[in-house]
Amino acid sequence: MKNFLQNIAKTLHQTYKDKLSGCCIVFPNRRSGLFFNKYLSEITGKPNPAILTINELMQKLSHLQIADDELILIFTLFKIYKKERKTTENFDEFYFWGQMLLNDFDALDKYLVDAKDLFQNLKSLQEIENQFNYLSPEQIKAIKNFWKSFEPTKYTKHQADFISIWSVLYDIYTKFNKELHSKGIAYEGMVYREVADKIKNNDVETRRASSLQCQKTSSLLHYEKIIFIGFNALTRCEEKLFDFLKQENLAEFYWDYDKYYIENEIQEAGLFLRENIKNYPSPNNPGEILKTPLNKKDLTGQKFHGVNSSNFDYLSKKDKHIEFIAVPSEVGQAKIVNQILQKTIQPPNIDTAIVLPDEHLLIPLLYSLPEEIKAINVTMGYPLKDTPAYSLIEHIIELQKNIRIVSDERYLPSEICSPSGMQSNSYKADYSTGRATISQGQFYFRNVLAILNHQYINNEVAKSLVDYINKNNKIYISPDELGKNELLKNIFHRINKLDEIPEYLVNILHNVFQKDIPELEQEYINQFILAIKQLKEIITRQEIPMSIETFFKLLKQIIQTINIPFEGEPLEGLQVMGVLETRALDFENVIILSMNEGILPAGDSASTFIPYNLRKGFGLPTVEHSDAIYAYYFYRLIQRAKNIYLIYNSTSNGRATGEMSRFLYQLKYESGFNILEKNLTFDISLSLPEKINIKKTTAVINKLEQYFTNDGDKKYFSPSAINTYIDCSLKFYFRYIAQLKEPDEVKEEIDAMTFGNLLHKAMNIIYKSYENKLINVQDIENLINNKQIIEDAILKSFEKEYYSKNVSGRNILIFEILKKYILQILHIDKNYTPFQIIELEKEYKIRFPVKLNNKEENINLGGTIDRIDKLVDTLRIIDYKTGKVESSYSDIPSLFTKENINRNKAVLQILFYSMLYEKNRKQPTDITPALYFTKQLFNDNFDYHIKKKQDGKYIIQETFNTVSEEFENELKNVFKEIFNPELDFEQVKNENICNYCPYSGICHRD
Ligand code: SF4
Repeated sequence: MKNFLQNIAKTLHQTYKDKLSGCCIVFPNRRSGLFFNKYLSEITGKPNPAILTINELMQKLSHLQIADDELILIFTLFKIYKKERKTTENFDEFYFWGQMLLNDFDALDKYLVDAKDLFQNLKSLQEIENQFNYLSPEQIKAIKNFWKSFEPTKYTKHQADFISIWSVLYDIYTKFNKELHSKGIAYEGMVYREVADKIKNNDVETRRASSLQCQKTSSLLHYEKIIFIGFNALTRCEEKLFDFLKQENLAEFYWDYDKYYIENEIQEAGLFLRENIKNYPSPNNPGEILKTPLNKKDLTGQKFHGVNSSNFDYLSKKDKHIEFIAVPSEVGQAKIVNQILQKTIQPPNIDTAIVLPDEHLLIPLLYSLPEEIKAINVTMGYPLKDTPAYSLIEHIIELQKNIRIVSDERYLPSEICSPSGMQSNSYKADYSTGRATISQGQFYFRNVLAILNHQYINNEVAKSLVDYINKNNKIYISPDELGKNELLKNIFHRINKLDEIPEYLVNILHNVFQKDIPELEQEYINQFILAIKQLKEIITRQEIPMSIETFFKLLKQIIQTINIPFEGEPLEGLQVMGVLETRALDFENVIILSMNEGILPAGDSASTFIPYNLRKGFGLPTVEHSDAIYAYYFYRLIQRAKNIYLIYNSTSNGRATGEMSRFLYQLKYESGFNILEKNLTFDISLSLPEKINIKKTTAVINKLEQYFTNDGDKKYFSPSAINTYIDCSLKFYFRYIAQLKEPDEVKEEIDAMTFGNLLHKAMNIIYKSYENKLINVQDIENLINNKQIIEDAILKSFEKEYYSKNVSGRNILIFEILKKYILQILHIDKNYTPFQIIELEKEYKIRFPVKLNNKEENINLGGTIDRIDKLVDTLRIIDYKTGKVESSYSDIPSLFTKENINRNKAVLQILFYSMLYEKNRKQPTDITPALYFTKQLFNDNFDYHIKKKQDGKYIIQETFNTVSEEFENELKNVFKEIFNPELDFEQVKNENICNYCPYSGICHRD
């Protein structure tokens, strides 16, 4: 089978022989022209005729030049819009509307709509009847339908808004056109309309008319024939051109279709071709193309009988292999292509096309193709916003937006800090003192981390910076800390002025470009650099005032609309393309992805300011028009193919509807093809994750035995380790044996643990100067009345615990709460005056004898006690507690009961500390365990004692020694278990205990 373009090439060669080089051949797009040229060269081996796209032909006939950059048009439109609407809108706010308006103007010109008629506020339905008698009754009805709900005295808010814009659109349109005309530039529609006007005004020169008419401004004199191939829907301007050239006997038309959709009057795929074949018939003897020409009746348009040619009758032969493949994932569709190519199409070459109605699947597809396929030609647009370069620029824009300016006073070198020294906006110098106030931009850690972790930036230097930020809890970071290499210096500096931005971004992209990144991605970066440079040039040329923020917003908006055109060498290899690029081409094997309703056809996706009924009334394209165009592309593409794989996403999430395209339903129920339907499913395992048990191997035992060593830097069991073990032995293993560290991360806001540490530290700082002294009422009152001491202590604790003295945002609240708690602790302490601080935040260690596996061992225990003080007759071991805890407990065994989420860990901890202290004393001493719960500090009856249940009542526990023996025995039992080689470390059964466990991911308990 020869394909459509091969047949045309052969026919034209036979018809025109040597004269063909004097013809001009026009295609709807460039790609079909390229393929045609290849087929023609294979036959003739001679110079080929001129090959143009329809746009190029229109451009040739017009004296206007289509603007290189849409931005220039939108800027021009913006200026006029602002003036007419008298708004203060910024350009970035207008950009989206500007694009929409431009598209609408383009359409109304291409379809030769009278702008004055369209942009009227039609108050009277009778007026519509009278004024639009040039329209069909159906069109008039549509216009009436729109305006009938508009009652000037009862406008809704939306209607009033609509009218206020609608009424100025005609002026905007005319002034915009005038302005562009004066500059000699245009949008496509303007060029099309100008050509239609020239034809109307008899201003296009052809061979037939040349001797008869005076001088024309446009000429087609040098063409023997103008041959149009493979068109479908025509704009009114194109129809005017076709009519004119047909009348001049200068045109030939070749249409591609199949009788399957042409003869069926309700098949939308044939909507335009049924008319075109009648209005612009192909030559009577088009060789193999059309063996039976259309009959007379067809030409007069009275009745259409269809065609009878084997070259236009493929879909009635049921000899195709068609598969529908449902894939429950968007990206999964790309993976299936790999299997199809590997199993059935070997080797995939120029006869195989993969069509992507959704361009987002291009990259997943390219990564899914079998490695052995080397020649791949991609011809389609790919959204720049889906590229890594875009995400980098987006992070950089955010970085600059969230910059924080800090001022710092420092000495500057004398050569700088002098009247003749270097001047800078970033500092204010006092020459007499040699000091200057430096204003420096600091970067917000989230933006910095996003950049450092970006695939183009992430390397060893970036990784060490990430560690540095996390370890030091840096919320705002200075350029000096970040500028570790050229690229990082380029990125992390503050942009002060609008004109610095383009260079700043381009420099970064140039720097990235020089890295070892794939060729494809270099293309994105190039496009980016181009877009930034163009934007800069246009802003400068158009003199549009703009803030840095507006520039960034605008850049993002513009980039979001840019598609990178991939145009490889199209004449070899596997063909990957968008739907539009398939026009007039045929392939033996066709694989189409995203065969979903809403994607193919796309449905009503075009943005327009012109309401549906007015579009319909004035003959502008509507959603039905667009559906019919895509129906034609689809059926035409499969009509000559032998193997057709139609893949769709069967899940509904995000953009996906999960609904298969109407074209698939049509094929399934109407076409009579034998269709193989496959439904791919992914195995979803419902089996529970396996239990995790860790055996006490020799290596584990060796690690455990490190707790026995008696060297200076010995490892010890803290109360936290004991509590962790009782909670979950596996968690104990992860943390203390395997030493799986929880990753460092920046804490922007204070968490519960940090809050507790801040309180301990601040109290420690406040009382430090009183250590070993007797504190009396006056001392405490002095502290209470000297807020500065308290605030300084809190700030110092912030610095130690949080690596920053900068208290901002929600932390201001934390600061105030801490202040309140500290003041209350002081008030409470006042009640116990005089007292003596014995020790603050002191580490205690002991060797604890336990008989393990029939052997006496000394286990190292230790911990840091918040505060030890002495009241008149009491030695208190104090722990400050900020969490949600109780001071009472049932009995000592309850503190060691596993699987109990309500176990009182705070009491275990304070008893553990009491034991540590008690065993460090030379003589036995009565010590009192004390808990300062912040939650209870404000209770009138605040009591630091812990309380034990006895005879159904909670009894204050004055001293530790009443429970010490029992406590130690329970503790020994825990150690016997920990060191028992037969007992594995295993997961806790009560999953409530897993809440907030950092290892829940490993355990599948998250
Ligand atoms: S997630 Fe649960 S079972 Fe796993 S270690 Fe943590 S507490 Fe233990």
